Amino acid sequence: MNPIRVGILGATGAVGQRFIELLSGNPWFEITALAASERSEGKTYAEACEWRISADMPAAVRAMPVLSCAPGLDCQIVFSALPPAAAREVEEQFAAAGYGVLSNASAHRMDPDVPLLIPEVNADHLALIDVQRRNRGWGRGFIVTDPNCSTVGMTLPLKPLHDAFGVRRVIVTTMQALSGAGYPGVPSLDILDNVVPFIRNEEDKMISEPRKLLGRFVDDHIAMADIRISPACNRVAARDGHLETLAIEFAHKPSSAAEVQEALRSFRSAPYALGCPSAVEQTIIVREEPDRPQTLKDRDAGHGMAVTVGRVRPCEVFDYKMVVLAHNTIRGAAGGSILNAEIMVARGMIA
Ligand code: NAP
Repeated sequence: MNPIRVGILGATGAVGQRFIELLSGNPWFEITALAASERSEGKTYAEACEWRISADMPAAVRAMPVLSCAPGLDCQIVFSALPPAAAREVEEQFAAAGYGVLSNASAHRMDPDVPLLIPEVNADHLALIDVQRRNRGWGRGFIVTDPNCSTVGMTLPLKPLHDAFGVRRVIVTTMQALSGAGYPGVPSLDILDNVVPFIRNEEDKMISEPRKLLGRFVDDHIAMADIRISPACNRVAARDGHLETLAIEFAHKPSSAAEVQEALRSFRSAPYALGCPSAVEQTIIVREEPDRPQTLKDRDAGHGMAVTVGRVRPCEVFDYKMVVLAHNTIRGAAGGSILNAEIMVARGMIA
């Protein structure tokens, strides 16, 4: 198969750089267009971008021009790493012009006719694309979104637990990395030797997005899952990787922590079975050590595409509690979006 030609909107930012790193090694896609704000337009990518990923900037993109975020780019699909305010209008313009849009931004996530997708969790929600095209009069174009970076880490393990035991209520506390705030993000003097117990709009997303992700596609809409979530989001001085503690109440009580662990371990990845290059066989890794997962040690598990779960134990208030960790700019952003595109390729929805 010829690689699919892709563009990146917001290519110079934290997530945009991850897209470039991950797509450069991906056999199904070829980067043919880069776009960012007026600040970067007209420069080469190497001139416009302050590269912050430890691997070198791929040679193939260094001399590429940074273009304006407007239809006309030489590509079939675009990955969007735009800030939410810019994303709403720009992504719709691209979809209306016939491009497939795979978005990281929150702008369209909760639109009733836009799939909010984790391919291992709710690939059947891609059926919303037909509804979206009908509603909006789009031909080939579409918008598919991936969830907020903290939502991904929580929802992947909740999926097999919901299927096995019925999740009713969750209390989740996050310890979120600095790269989640983009660059320059939080000033160093605000975060060194400190924890900031507030991330704007984050808790609202963690309440609503899992209910859509774990909801059922019925007729032409998603029936939201009946799960109540109480999040508390904190910014900590880690560079990458969002750590979260979860306390979960189930409708059908598991008999032991071992049964909870077994439900997590036996989770199978549909995109892996379909041969998607970014998918990992073990999407949920369960660790037994009492002090894992740890941000520094476990965030790169499965090339950053796996979620690590540990400390599964009975909860004194709800039923069971655990710790989860996901890489926010890989699994929680660029890697997740690329996997969304791959499952669409594997299903013949992008060609
Ligand atoms: P960022 O580092 O601030 O990068 C923003 C990018 O968008 C830059 O390329 C910037 O270009 C471009 N841009 C800004 N305003 C624009 C405009 N009006 N028109 C066109 N381009 C514009 O942000 P980020 O952390 O990569 O986040 C990008 C998106 O992903 C956001 O919606 C964010 O919420 C979401 N997200 C982030 C994470 C994460 O862990 N960081 C995780 C999940 C989702 P210039 O360089 O030219 O200014």
